[in-house]
Amino acid sequence: MYKFLRFPDFKLKAVTLSYDDGTVFDKKLISVLDKYGLKCTFNLNSELYSEHRRLSKEEATELYLDSPHEVAVHGAKHLSLTEVSPEVATREIITDRENLEKQFGRIVKGMAYAYGTYNDTVVEILKNCGVKYARTVESSNGFKIPTDWLRLSPTCRHAAPNLTDLTEMFLNYKKADFYMNNEPLLFYLWGHSYEFNDSDNWEIIENFAKKVGNRDDIWYCTNGEVYDYVKAFERLEYSVDGKIIKNPTDTDVYLCYHGKNVLVKAGKVTAIKE
Ligand SMILES: [Zn+2]
Repeated sequence: MYKFLRFPDFKLKAVTLSYDDGTVFDKKLISVLDKYGLKCTFNLNSELYSEHRRLSKEEATELYLDSPHEVAVHGAKHLSLTEVSPEVATREIITDRENLEKQFGRIVKGMAYAYGTYNDTVVEILKNCGVKYARTVESSNGFKIPTDWLRLSPTCRHAAPNLTDLTEMFLNYKKADFYMNNEPLLFYLWGHSYEFNDSDNWEIIENFAKKVGNRDDIWYCTNGEVYDYVKAFERLEYSVDGKIIKNPTDTDVYLCYHGKNVLVKAGKVTAIKE
């Protein structure tokens, strides 16, 4: 499905992170990520500011607003959405979304499930609340581009014993190999920054960032950026003979089209040369 897709500048690999709860330890996490150029989506509970080691509202604004990172919904009060009525679940999502949009002055359309709990009813509620992508806690241990964006499987959490193995595997791919069906690779890491504090193991994220960060063969993106990019790719229109490609979106899309690098510019029609 994503055989022709490449990330910006024809890159074959992308890395995104997703961290939950908006605790004070996000400050240190961001300083590590920024040093190595990594980008993260921070999933926040807008009715729990200052509680349980969370940042205050003012601190959160200061930390995330002018950063390269994304803010997303994690439920206004961090409720398990499968254990409350649909009405309460709806409020939990829509209130968090609206609060964050007002606080940060941008569209907020991502989410991570509090406690990792969801079911089909909850997914329907998300759709009605305009949430476009939502992370679960079920590791894929792989690098596939998601197809079910409201049940996103991360590659792994940072505490996973196989993090180093997965990181090496990801970095060692020189080209999309047969196993991956020539598709580009996405490494999606998740966790909570307070785990680094509580387990006194900041070196996990420092080592990860050092290894995968600041490289010119990897695109560093938030969850929202990779979502928008893949959706732009999906909106490309092709002529019957496949030699004309129209990009109706506002995003430049990079392809490896039948073995050739092709840039399909935003809003343009591109003819494929023989
Ligand atoms: Zn949480």
